[in-house]
Amino acid sequence: MRSVELHRRVVADLIAPRPPEPLPLADALGLVLAGDVEAPLSLPGFDNSAMDGYAVVADDIASATMENTVRLPVAEDIPAGRTDRLILKPGTAHRIMTGAPVPSGATAVVPVEATDGGVDTVAIRAAAKPGQHIRRAGEDVTAGTTVLRAGQVVTPAALGLAAALGLAELTVVPRQRVLVMSTGSELVAPGTPLQPGQIYESNAVMLAAAVRDAGGHVVAAPMTGDDVDAFRNTLSRYATEADLIITTGGVSAGAYEVVKDALGGEVDFVKVAMQPGMPQGAGRIGDTPIITLPGNPVSALVSFEVFIRSPLRAAMGVAQPDRPRRQAVLNEDLTSPKGKRQFRRGVLDPATDTVVSYGPPASHHLRWLASANCLLEIDEEVAELTAGSQVTVWDLSAG
Ligand code: AMP
Ligand code: MG
Repeated sequence: MRSVELHRRVVADLIAPRPPEPLPLADALGLVLAGDVEAPLSLPGFDNSAMDGYAVVADDIASATMENTVRLPVAEDIPAGRTDRLILKPGTAHRIMTGAPVPSGATAVVPVEATDGGVDTVAIRAAAKPGQHIRRAGEDVTAGTTVLRAGQVVTPAALGLAAALGLAELTVVPRQRVLVMSTGSELVAPGTPLQPGQIYESNAVMLAAAVRDAGGHVVAAPMTGDDVDAFRNTLSRYATEADLIITTGGVSAGAYEVVKDALGGEVDFVKVAMQPGMPQGAGRIGDTPIITLPGNPVSALVSFEVFIRSPLRAAMGVAQPDRPRRQAVLNEDLTSPKGKRQFRRGVLDPATDTVVSYGPPASHHLRWLASANCLLEIDEEVAELTAGSQVTVWDLSAG
């Protein structure tokens, strides 16, 4: 049997990043910048007012107080967005709004609250320090400065900065495009009637969601019956659009193992020393990597967590692609099959760092997985764990 570590390496070696791509800002959220971003212009782009008020020469109102106001004629009205260049003559004021360009010659802005708000003339009740309430060109960003670094995750604020700098696109490590395929002649799409012996298909929606949750793009998530031709047809229909193909089912030791039957030449089918998730496969169809997961829903999702999620995120430039792992205190006795790495579903109490397993170990107990918040990782050589011992947990709520 292949070790979990070896199969992780085999899968990781298959998954590669796509070349960097410029994307419209709206599509870049959450992706990783492929290069540094230099500011093409300064921010603010021009001296502008930080307040609604009056642009003045500070010296003209040096004597202004509540009792002895200074009255100036209002020579211009400057709303935000005015594009002509204005000059303030000494001894006059311009009414100005927040964000509007400060006229040349003005040395301060007096807030409207310190005036009578006049339109033709204005009575000013307080002196102003030179430079007061003027946002200077370039005081936030100087043109040419590196404002975002390669490897940074694009956040809403990074998008805001890029837009403020006039950039319509950011060059990012693109999403991995993933084809998710489930197989099984017993499978029926949710929302349609069931015949006896049929079950609802659940892996496609689950793994597609896991791919999206990891930042990937799902090309399609079709299902096929256990028919080699139908399987290969569906595969070839989508495979060229995908950077990675994930299948579920049809890889065990029985008859009608459609994935095994169809891909014997391209995929290396192996047994991995783990529970759940023993039957696995990895290979390439043409240039496209394909990972074949077992069909039991718990096996499929745990296998995705153990083998695919980290390299998928790494291929999208994520610096810390793994789920956070840590030691927690086990609150019960547990047994584990000797010779296999066991991944139990668990509930971790982060307040006390204690954990209990959640549900039986068998791989069809999806209900428990749905409400677990961690995986317990129990080493191959461990057969028994007693309450109070340390166990490794993967925090599924983070990373
Ligand atoms: P297989 O790996 O194809 O032998 O499937 C193992 C078990 O998982 C069987 O009980 C299947 O019915 C079940 N199974 C396989 N694929 C799916 C799926 N997409 N959705 C729900 N159950 C599945
Ligand atoms: Mg099957």
